[in-house]
Amino acid sequence: MKVTEEIFYFPGINFDCNVFLIKDSVSDELTVIDCGTGFFFDRLIKRISQEGLKPENIARVILTHVHFDHSGGLINFVREYSPQVLVFHLEADSIEKGGNGLLLAREFGLEFTPTKVHQRLKEGDIIKAGNLSLSVINTPGHTIGSICLYDQDQKVLFSGDTVFTQGSFGRVDFPTGDAKKLTQSLVLLSKLDVQYLLCGHLDIATRNANEQIKLSLKNARLWL
Ligand SMILES: [Zn+2]
Repeated sequence: MKVTEEIFYFPGINFDCNVFLIKDSVSDELTVIDCGTGFFFDRLIKRISQEGLKPENIARVILTHVHFDHSGGLINFVREYSPQVLVFHLEADSIEKGGNGLLLAREFGLEFTPTKVHQRLKEGDIIKAGNLSLSVINTPGHTIGSICLYDQDQKVLFSGDTVFTQGSFGRVDFPTGDAKKLTQSLVLLSKLDVQYLLCGHLDIATRNANEQIKLSLKNARLWL
């Protein structure tokens, strides 16, 4: 589904995360944000093609965090299309070394296949993807190295599992999860001007996204 002229949304199948693609309308280059588990990789690629996008143009993959429902499919993208892999520095070792720790692969009944990280992202890095200039914002709480990607001009926020629509927010009971940090991250996000809230699970929001984030913050303060 098309969110804007250059952002495409592929709702997560079963327990996969939502997958987003950004198209550069000049070069046709594609940027993928989060991968799903890989269980449904062929179906995902079919849906990408059905949108008129060319999977062979996938040039980079960014992970919002390394949980298996976001990272399991990374190896499929790497094998098929050899993209650059961008992961926040605090979680990059999990992708390169594997192991269960942060990845939760075993919870999904699978082993994670380690792969090279080409760019270890840092707070404040800017990633150019199409017409978007995405700022990397570390939003710990769901995991220590969770990031959101924000374009201020276009008011786009890729929020991973930090904040969801429907007043919801990420779980804090996995390794490196932290309720206090998650609330602090939601405070930070509630100060941004957001129209498009493109979250890692559940529905996305394309208007009133500021109110959605504030509702999640309110609920986090009540429940965490
Ligand atoms: Zn997660």
